Amino acid sequence: MKKGIVIGAGIGGLTTAIALAQKGFDVTVYEQAAQLNEVGAGVWLAPNGLKVLEKLGIVNEFLEIGHELELISIKDTNDVTITQIDGKEIRKKHNFVTLAIHRAKLQKQLATHIPEGKLILNKKCVDYTQTNNQVTVNFQDNTTETADFVIFADGIHSVARKKLNKNLNLRYSGQTCWRFILDNYTLPSDQKDKMFEIWSDKKGLRAAYSQLSKNQVYCYITNFINPGQQDNKSTIKNDLLNLCADFQPIVKKLIADCDESVIIRSDLFDFKPINNWIDKNILLLGDAAHATTPNLGQGACQAIEDALVLADELSKTSTINEAYVNFQNRRIEKTHYVTNTSFKFAQVNNTTGISKKIMKFFIRNTPKSINNKQFDKLYTIDSEK
Ligand SMILES: Cc1cc2nc3c(=O)[nH]c(=O)nc-3n(C[C@H](O)[C@H](O)[C@H](O)COP(=O)(O)OP(=O)(O)OC[C@H]3O[C@@H](n4cnc5c(N)ncnc54)[C@H](O)[C@@H]3O)c2cc1C
Repeated sequence: MKKGIVIGAGIGGLTTAIALAQKGFDVTVYEQAAQLNEVGAGVWLAPNGLKVLEKLGIVNEFLEIGHELELISIKDTNDVTITQIDGKEIRKKHNFVTLAIHRAKLQKQLATHIPEGKLILNKKCVDYTQTNNQVTVNFQDNTTETADFVIFADGIHSVARKKLNKNLNLRYSGQTCWRFILDNYTLPSDQKDKMFEIWSDKKGLRAAYSQLSKNQVYCYITNFINPGQQDNKSTIKNDLLNLCADFQPIVKKLIADCDESVIIRSDLFDFKPINNWIDKNILLLGDAAHATTPNLGQGACQAIEDALVLADELSKTSTINEAYVNFQNRRIEKTHYVTNTSFKFAQVNNTTGISKKIMKFFIRNTPKSINNKQFDKLYTIDSEK
């Protein structure tokens, strides 16, 4: 059986290693971090991601540690609904509703399925070279590893993506995001199984929150602002409270009640969709191949979807390169769609005044049949087609 290397123990890399091991491949994951301590934030896993975990036979353990959301509601600061996703209808069609889950818990739970000795931490990949049939990976500690195939699941700043697409720059969405988790916290009982995203009339200003587990709540805020800035840790809570002054009291309460030391600030970048994920026996996967802004809540789900399709192709195709090409053919359209739609969503949200009013009017009046088509497109996984 062929030997493989996965670079990066994020959501994409770990799911890929699990899917490949289930097909009998000998795969080792190398991760730059010394510990699996993903950022303390939440992630919303849509039904497509959960369907893949179900196919891998591991979904129930994630349902247990996350929180299922029966309604996703986008509304304005006056509580007027802009659009919503009814979990009951989605569950009927797609078996699952969106699951809110702590990133670190998700990552650690995935890691429990990696066999002993097959997840090596503290190994930062800096380069790779290829011979006819093999790939050698170089690590920062001057060690190397050789395998028949390598999958780079090393995120938006991927070493291999930079080598393969030299002139590609990251694209700033215009928005910065603040994320935080409140421990030992529950939402009012009428909001417990719901996720709310609230749109202000100001450029790029949104706040969203949901229960993340029985006793944790996750909240994020976005705003239109230049990238590369830093928070003043001593004023950050007041700064966010001022920013969100027009929002519903619950948003202000979440900000007021959070511990400012856990607030994470991230500038939201992606890169324009690329058509080249392959270099002979190396492949880009997840954000390394198709980074997306988080407006559709699909980045992690797309990385998870990649895993299943790749394992399918590698297990049935005679050469690695042929499997990679088939994989790219099967995944490129949907991932490009997600990246482009999500980026447009951010730009639409970066409007203000009359443009924003018109945009909200259109979204509010989009026929249900069109919305349903979009959900079907996102939530249907490749093996269901
Ligand atoms: C603010 C925000 C909110 C989001 N919310 C959602 C959401 O609700 N739902 C959703 O589906 N998606 C969401 N996403 C997107 C999601 O987080 C990513 O799409 C997903 O994490 C991609 O997984 P990945 O494994 O491809 O990359 P990553 O998660 O970036 O993992 C890459 C891994 O590779 C490691 N690595 C990097 N370089 C090297 C190297 N040189 N050598 C070894 N290891 C290396 C990193 O340490 C990391 O562990 C959000 C993103 C952001 C920024």
